[in-house]
Amino acid sequence: MKYRYNLDKSSKKYHCPNCNKKTFVRYFDNEKKEYLPNEIGRCDRENKCGYHTAPKGNYIKTYEVKYTTPPPISYHSYTLVSHCGRNYKHNNFVQFLKNIFTIDEVKTVILKYLIGTSKFWDGATVFWQIDNNKNVRHGKVMLYNIKTGKRLKNASGNAFITSVRSLLKLNNFNLKQCLFGLHLINKKASQTIGIVESEKTAVIMSLFKPNYVWLATGSKHGFKYEMLKPIISYNIIAFPDKGEYNDWQSKAMELNDYGFKIKVSRFIEDSNHVNGTDLADIYLEQIRTSKKPKTVTTITNTSTNFSRVKSITEAKIKRMMKKNVNLLKLIDVFELTDENNLPINVSSLKD
Ligand SMILES: [Zn+2]
Repeated sequence: MKYRYNLDKSSKKYHCPNCNKKTFVRYFDNEKKEYLPNEIGRCDRENKCGYHTAPKGNYIKTYEVKYTTPPPISYHSYTLVSHCGRNYKHNNFVQFLKNIFTIDEVKTVILKYLIGTSKFWDGATVFWQIDNNKNVRHGKVMLYNIKTGKRLKNASGNAFITSVRSLLKLNNFNLKQCLFGLHLINKKASQTIGIVESEKTAVIMSLFKPNYVWLATGSKHGFKYEMLKPIISYNIIAFPDKGEYNDWQSKAMELNDYGFKIKVSRFIEDSNHVNGTDLADIYLEQIRTSKKPKTVTTITNTSTNFSRVKSITEAKIKRMMKKNVNLLKLIDVFELTDENNLPINVSSLKD
C-alpha cells in the first residue's frame, strides 16, 4: 500500500515556520510529485519546538513520528507585578532617573514598563517581560548604581542579576522570554519600534524619543527570530551597542528575508565611544553637556506660536551645538522633535 503524502526522506531541511531553525522536514505529495506548501511539515528540533502540521486527507504516517508537544509556557501572576510596583525610594534605577528627568516623566515610565522594586538586594529593580497578550513571562532582578545608572558588580566582578523565578524557587517554571516592552505594542502597525539591548536603555529612550515604541532584547543574543516574531509587521530600527553592529546587521538581513522590516543604525558604531556604549549612554552624555531644561512649553497650535517656539528651540540648539558638534548628527539620526513634537529643521542649522 502506497500513501499519498509522506515526510521527505532526504536529509533536506528547511526553516521552520515556528522557530525559524533549519530543522524543518516538509511533506511530499507522491501523487503530484511535489512538496506541499512550506508550512506543512514537522520541526525536528528536539523537544524545543514541537511544530507539526500534517496534510489532511488520506495521510497516514509512513514512519514513526515522534511528536512531543512542548510544555506550556509558564507565566507569573499580575499580583506579583503590582506587589513589586512600590517602594521606589529603594529602587536605585528609579532614583537615578529622578536625577535626570522630572517626577512626572519618571512616573510615566514606571507605569508604562511596570518597573518594580525587589528587596532581595537593597535598591534592586525588577524588569518584567510581559508579552503582547499581556502574559507575564519573566522578571529580571538587577541592581544599579544610584549615581551613575550603571550595573553594580560584586567583588568577583559579576553583575548583580537574578530572576523572580529563582527568588521564588519556581523549579518547574517553563521560561520563554519575550522582548521587554512587548506589552506596549498595539495593533496599529504604524508604530515605529526602536530595539535596543538593555531594558534600562529602552526605558530611558522612551523618555527621550517617545514617538517610538522602545523594546529591549535583554541580551545581545536576544536579537533573533523567536523574540522578534510578534513584531514582524512593524517598522523596526535596531540600535546595537557599540561593537555589536555587524552581528545585528547580518541577523537583520536574514530576518528581512522572512518579511521583517528592520533597519540597523550605524550611529553608535560610527561614534568614538568605547565598546559596549549604548544609545542611552550617548544621550545621557548629551544631556549632561547641554543641561537640557526640564520645563516643557505648551503651545496652542497657531502658526504664529508654532514658528516662534520652533525658532526658540532652533536657537537653543545652535547654542548647544557650539559645545557639542555631535548634536546635529543626533537630531538627524533620530528625526528629533522639539518639546512640542515639532520636527527640527536640521538643514537650517548647518550653516
Ligand atoms: Zn521549529
